[in-house]
Amino acid sequence: MAKRIAIIGAGPAGMAAAYFAAEGGAEVDLYDKNPVIGKKYVYVPWEGCELTHEGNTEDFMENYARGAEFLTYSLDKFTSKDAVKLLKKLGVKVTTNEDGVIIPTNGDTQELKKAFEEKLQELNVNLCVSSKVQEILADGRKITGIKVHNKEVKYDKVIIATGGAARPKLGASDDGYEFAKEFGHSITKPLPAISEVETNEKLGKFLSGLEVSSVAVSVYRNKHKHLERNGKILFTDHGLMGDAILFLSGIISRLSENNKVEISIDFVPLKSKEMIDRDLVAKSSLNSSHLVGDILKEYLDPRLLPVMTRFYRIQETKPMSHITNLERKSLVLFLKDFRVTVKRVKPFFAAFYTSGGVDVEEINPKTMESKLVKGLYFCGEVLDVDGGPGGYNMHSAFATGYTAGKAVSRGAKTKKAKKKSSASKKAAKKSDKGDQQEAEEVDDQSSIKVA
Ligand SMILES: Cc1cc2nc3c(=O)[nH]c(=O)nc-3n(C[C@H](O)[C@H](O)[C@H](O)COP(=O)(O)OP(=O)(O)OC[C@H]3O[C@@H](n4cnc5c(N)ncnc54)[C@H](O)[C@@H]3O)c2cc1C
Repeated sequence: MAKRIAIIGAGPAGMAAAYFAAEGGAEVDLYDKNPVIGKKYVYVPWEGCELTHEGNTEDFMENYARGAEFLTYSLDKFTSKDAVKLLKKLGVKVTTNEDGVIIPTNGDTQELKKAFEEKLQELNVNLCVSSKVQEILADGRKITGIKVHNKEVKYDKVIIATGGAARPKLGASDDGYEFAKEFGHSITKPLPAISEVETNEKLGKFLSGLEVSSVAVSVYRNKHKHLERNGKILFTDHGLMGDAILFLSGIISRLSENNKVEISIDFVPLKSKEMIDRDLVAKSSLNSSHLVGDILKEYLDPRLLPVMTRFYRIQETKPMSHITNLERKSLVLFLKDFRVTVKRVKPFFAAFYTSGGVDVEEINPKTMESKLVKGLYFCGEVLDVDGGPGGYNMHSAFATGYTAGKAVSRGAKTKKAKKKSSASKKAAKKSDKGDQQEAEEVDDQSSIKVA
């Protein structure tokens, strides 16, 4: 008998899990409380849909502020190349942009939703939309089914792919956390991530819209440095965005609960404070005709100069030969350690992701099964995994969905189906030598099987 699987949540994680579970021979019902699948990103009029990113597992691991170790297995088994292969098999055309991000070629996120929908139907997955799962049923520590539309339905296994708490208007809810808690799972407090960081300093007045590349951003709580990230920052009306800030925003959310958090920006990460100081000393010699502003323009975008005037009270028109030692030290600080204080990370209504979720210590990383309850699985944003911008969160949703889908369907194929699959592999090999590699993958249990 094929295994009966319920998947709760038809976002990227649930869709991937459904795909691999059904393809592995399981009978799958995919539930979503929304009237459509994949609502979170599909219905956003946002052309920057980032599906995955170029790179190997090590590159990927550097892009998860939390949960990287836990993800290693899934990232190894389902690489960005595998994601691209899967998307191509689904009929979604993808392109790699100049930053290495893999995006839909025509910028249409609907295409992915439609492709998944068609493929899942082809694989006989029941798409149960407008169906909010109310409860997960168990007999002691073993899953027995779910409750939906006030009815109990039996299943062998249940995958929770309910996503995180970001963007309630797009369907985000606490359901996954509540289900997990019912079974004794610990939840790391969900907090907004990939979200604008608002600062107490009103920089937007001078700098709103200015993007600065190749800076190093460090996060300090109570004067203790926690994390550093290199990348871009973008000054907004009320604070900061840009990939370096967005990557850190989940950590900043957590650190700034009841604590003073400072962000330090190093505009010249390739030169030490000492090197810059020596350079400024040389340029402030008595016969120097340099102005402060001219010198600083050698290091940073001139649009940042009004900030120096305002924060350090040094006029850009002041001759370098007239600056005091203290002022020179201030210039070094401005270039290497410009500090702003965090007011807040913009809440869930504006965040793109959730930092926190189901504690991954209680999940088997090779199957996504709960270590506490047999037959209960998790994948996607509901887990305490915190990826940066650039396609890493969509990828971890796909990759953990892959691992969960594979695990729930393990052993699900009947002997007859296996025989059929082996025969079609031989046929594929014969008919198209060029496609040999793909045909081999169909029978390789440890790699993706795409229909
Ligand atoms: C506007 C926006 C843009 C984004 N863009 C990107 C991007 O370009 N690249 C990237 O990597 N990441 C992006 N993200 C993040 C990414 O979309 C999420 O991390 C990803 O969707 C998580 O996938 P998931 O399947 O775990 O959860 P979700 O996509 O949130 O799906 C969970 C699903 O579960 C359903 N559900 C919840 N509870 C129940 C229940 N009780 N019963 C039935 N169904 C339920 C919800 O309706 C929802 O459809 C974006 C996020 C947002 C908000």
